[in-house]
Amino acid sequence: MDLNSRIPVGPIQQKWDRHRFELKLVNPANKRKYSVIVVGSGLAGASAAATLSELGYHVKCFCFQDSPRRAHSIAAQGGINAAKNYQNDGDSIWRLFYDTVKGGDFRAREANVYRLAQISVNIIDQCVAQGVPFAREYGGLLANRSFGGAQVSRTFYARGQTGQQLLLGAYQALEKEIARGGVTMFPRTEMLDLIVINGRARGIVARDMVTGRVESHLADAVVLGTGGYGNVFYLSTNAKGSNATAIWRAHKRGALFSNPCYTQIHPTCIPVSGEYQSKLTLMSESLRNDGRVWVPKQRGDRRPPDQIPEAERDYYLERKYPSFGNLAPRDIASRAAKEVCDDGRGVGPNGLGVFLDFADAIKRLGEDRIRERYGNLFEMYQRITDENPYRAPMRIFPAVHYTMGGLWVDYDLMSTIPGLFVIGEANFSDHGANRLGASALMQGLADGYFILPYTIGDYLAGAKLEKADSNQGDVISTEGAVNERVLRLLSIKGRRTVDSFHRELGKLMWDKCGMARSAEGLREGIQRIPALREEFWQNVNVPGSDAELNQALEKAGRVADFLELGELMCRDALHREESCGGHFRVEHQTEDGEAKRDDDSFAYVAAWEWRGDNAEPCLSREPLTFENVQLATRSYK
Ligand SMILES: Cc1cc2nc3c(=O)[nH]c(=O)nc-3n(C[C@H](O)[C@H](O)[C@H](O)COP(=O)(O)OP(=O)(O)OC[C@H]3O[C@@H](n4cnc5c(N)ncnc54)[C@H](O)[C@@H]3O)c2cc1C
Repeated sequence: MDLNSRIPVGPIQQKWDRHRFELKLVNPANKRKYSVIVVGSGLAGASAAATLSELGYHVKCFCFQDSPRRAHSIAAQGGINAAKNYQNDGDSIWRLFYDTVKGGDFRAREANVYRLAQISVNIIDQCVAQGVPFAREYGGLLANRSFGGAQVSRTFYARGQTGQQLLLGAYQALEKEIARGGVTMFPRTEMLDLIVINGRARGIVARDMVTGRVESHLADAVVLGTGGYGNVFYLSTNAKGSNATAIWRAHKRGALFSNPCYTQIHPTCIPVSGEYQSKLTLMSESLRNDGRVWVPKQRGDRRPPDQIPEAERDYYLERKYPSFGNLAPRDIASRAAKEVCDDGRGVGPNGLGVFLDFADAIKRLGEDRIRERYGNLFEMYQRITDENPYRAPMRIFPAVHYTMGGLWVDYDLMSTIPGLFVIGEANFSDHGANRLGASALMQGLADGYFILPYTIGDYLAGAKLEKADSNQGDVISTEGAVNERVLRLLSIKGRRTVDSFHRELGKLMWDKCGMARSAEGLREGIQRIPALREEFWQNVNVPGSDAELNQALEKAGRVADFLELGELMCRDALHREESCGGHFRVEHQTEDGEAKRDDDSFAYVAAWEWRGDNAEPCLSREPLTFENVQLATRSYK
């Protein structure tokens, strides 16, 4: 397929302004004639739904939680980047742009990233105006801290609850529009398919999760802000409910899926503690501002940390990456942790952990200051591990955290299905092969508050849409397919639980398509996943009925999708014969174990097309050109 990214011409600094001027407008009176469906009410969805409604469009907004306030965005801890340069430490839009392109290992579109850096400054103004309580300095000015992959302090934060505070801002904007009648909210309603009429996205089929009623909703355009798919690995830092269903079903209706294998493994999570654990907990990257990462120099050293003298400790990030130290980007810090653990120097009961130590910072700043900065994170750590991080170093280990892949979108955030827009973590757009910390919130809010509201108008003004109604064949057949699938899941009555399939898939994904990938392992994954999928459809047991709240049924639908997506991830990882960012192929590494890119062969966005249940997906390529940032080996030394 020919992928037209619609990147505007002209100097990078002027592309977005020029594009905004050239986009068609819908006049205020005409906006009332259009309706838009927004699936998702996390930061991306809530900001988009509220803004579209403020502009005058009729909006229907859907989420599977009981309230938009419970979207996974609420979990975000550390902060949100913006090139405000309040610290006067050398930051600029250009530097944020450069850091993000480099951080993504040169696998993101320059034009998108530049626009993101430009818009970052507006986001902070918008959120402050909403009353988001960002941390402030003693004198009342907004405070900043540093995140990985940057040598400036540009991260705005609200203690360890930045996502929660930002979501409250977006949620209030959304609630205002719900109360005004501009947005109709459908909580506990899950999108199970996309309705495509005459090649355009015109609606969704959704299931009321309380009554089980399946219903079609029609509109002039559909927006998916449905989050990431890290839970394909079963264990991840994502909320348990996060899933791929909305984007996967849209993929099967024709939306291309980009870079599915680009997964972010976050270096700073509480280590796995047992076979039956169902969730992993993030310890925010912000902790690496003050915490120092180390392991014993000696293999198998089991002494408690306070008995290991300074000279016998290896502060390996500071040693290997002196310019960035403990704030090396996530992919690099994760791999370094794996390397020391593989070398037999890991800590904790199973040797799969490294220390994150605050002793120096407490000595320098005092315990109160550290409590002020990270109090809730320390408390969370103590509750989960029963260890006091003010007294002993935390133990951390990498875990699946974020998915850079997602549905392919052009510069206007429109997928390959006209009328289907994708925002936030659900699209592939801005982070290349590795997202820098504090950039997901920035992207979700840039998409929802500042980009989509312009670009969707251009589509609606030019689309010449016919009236769609629920008696049309495409609507009836899509609804029929959803009902049939629900009944099929319930009728299998096999012997294995949904969770047991999910756990098995997750382990396979982690082993074969996780932090280190090899051609041999990926081929094994591609062979084993279809067999597991086959068994799922023969042997899964979904108790209960479809006419009630049935969490096993919800999970079964999502796991069925993960069982297809997982295979695509392995295929994507196998075809990309290079290492870049979070995609580390053991065959492609430098002598000192760093990722080795192959720009001649792989400087492109991979976009996969669904070809049917038993057919191999088809790959299209969108070449990436770098005119403003020089392609170079990424170094944080
Ligand atoms: C523990 C943790 C901490 C993080 N901390 C940070 C941080 O400090 N800074 C940062 O920049 N990023 C952080 N991130 C990443 C960031 O939080 C997410 O990438 C971001 O919040 C995603 O927002 P979203 O709006 O795209 O999706 P989400 O917040 O995941 O929202 C998805 C929405 O879609 C709805 N939905 C999904 N599927 C369906 C369906 N089929 N039908 C109906 N509704 C559906 C859900 O109900 C929900 O409303 C963190 C991530 C984690 C896991």
